[in-house]
Amino acid sequence: MNKLKIKKKDYNFTFVKNVVFDFNAINKLNNILKLISNKKNKKIVILFIDSFFKKNKLKLKIDKSFTKKIIYIDTKKEPSNDLLDSLIDKYKSKFKSSTFAIAGIGGGSTLDVAKGFSILLNNFGKTQKYQGWNLVTNEGVIKIGIPTISGTGSESSRTCVFIDKKRKIKLGMNSNYSVFDYLILDPNLSKTVPLDQFFYTAMDTYIHCIESINGKFREPIADAYNQISLEICNDVFLSNNLKSKINRKKLMNASYIGGMAIGNTYVGLIHPLSAALSTVYGIHHCVANCIVMRSMRSYYYKEYSFFWKIVKKHNIYIPKLSEYTKGCDLNFKDLFSSFIIHEKPLINALGNNAIKILTQSKVEKLFRGML
Ligand code: NAD
Ligand code: ZN
Repeated sequence: MNKLKIKKKDYNFTFVKNVVFDFNAINKLNNILKLISNKKNKKIVILFIDSFFKKNKLKLKIDKSFTKKIIYIDTKKEPSNDLLDSLIDKYKSKFKSSTFAIAGIGGGSTLDVAKGFSILLNNFGKTQKYQGWNLVTNEGVIKIGIPTISGTGSESSRTCVFIDKKRKIKLGMNSNYSVFDYLILDPNLSKTVPLDQFFYTAMDTYIHCIESINGKFREPIADAYNQISLEICNDVFLSNNLKSKINRKKLMNASYIGGMAIGNTYVGLIHPLSAALSTVYGIHHCVANCIVMRSMRSYYYKEYSFFWKIVKKHNIYIPKLSEYTKGCDLNFKDLFSSFIIHEKPLINALGNNAIKILTQSKVEKLFRGML
C-alpha cells in the first residue's frame, strides 16, 4: 500500500450522537424538539424542507408552543454558496437569538442546506470562508437530519457541500460541526421517490464505498463500515424490487453507515469527475456519478461491470453527457480545472503521482467517453 500525502490531523471520526430509525420515526420529531428546547430558552424551530413536500404535505406533529418557520428548498439545482449566503442574509438577524433547533427534511441537497445554515448562524462570514477542512470554529445551532431519499450519507457525514459558481468549484465545509446532532431515519419517507432518482442516489453510497475501499488511504473503522454498507447495497441492487419496503429500510441503513465511513476517508476518481460535471453543467451529483461510470471501465472494472448489470436489471435510464452540452463541444478547460482541484481523492485513487498521471489528454478522453 502506498504512503499517502494526507496529514494525520485531517483524519477524524465524528458521529451523530442520537439516531431514531424505524417506520414512522418522524413522529418522534416533537419529542426531540421538547428535549432540546428544555435546555434552551428559545422557541423557534426552522424547518428546511424539500419543495417536493410543498404539494405532498408531510404530517408533522409539532406542539403549538413552538414557533415553526418552514423554508422550502428547491432542489432542481444543487445548493450553492449563493443560495446559502442569501438565506443567511435574509434570516440571520431575524432568527439567530431565538432559534433553538434546525431541521433538514429532504435529500442530500436539503440536508446540506440545513447543516450549512446552522453553522453560519453561529459563525461570522459567508459560506466560502468555511469550505475546506476544519475551518469552522463555533458549534452551530442544534440540527436534526431527516432524510427522505437514501444514498448520499449526508445524514451521517461531517460535511455539507456547496457549489461556488464564481470560483467554479464544488466544495464541502468539512468539520466536526457539520455533523447532525439528531437523526430521524424513517424509511416511509422515501416511498415517493421516482425509481430512476431512487437508483441514482442509492448508487452514491455504493460509489463512495468502492472508491474508498479501492483507495490507497485505508483505515480499519472506515473499511468495516464500507464493507457492511456494500453488502447491504449489493443485496438491494440484486433483488427484484429496488423500492420495496424492506429495501427502503436497508438502503437507509446502508446510506447512514456509508456516510460515517466516507466523511472520514476519501473518495476516488469518480467523484472529482462528477463534481466537474455538476460545476460546469449543473448536473445533479448522483446522476452525474452514473454518467461518469460510462468511462470507468479501466479504473474500476469489477464495479463498472456490476453497475451496468444492475442498470440493465432494473431498466434504469442513465443519461449521456451530450444531453447536457446543448450541441456545443465539451467545455474541457473548465471541466479540467474543476476536476484537478480535488487533489486528495485523486491521490487516494492513483497514488502520490496522481496529478502527473492525469494529463489533460487522459482526462479529456474520460470526459469524451461520457458523451
Ligand atoms: P436531492 O436532495 O438533490 O434531491 C433529488 C431529487 O429527489 C429532488 O428532485 C427532490 O425533490 C427529490 N426527492 C427527495 N426526496 C423525495 C421524496 N421522498 N419523494 C419524491 N421526491 C423526492 O437528492 P440527493 O441525491 O439525496 O442529494 C444530492 C446532494 O447531496 C448534492 O447536492 C450533493 O452534493 C450532496 N451530497 C452531500 C454529501 C454530504 O456528505 N454532505 C454527500 C454526497 C452528496
Ligand atoms: Zn457522492
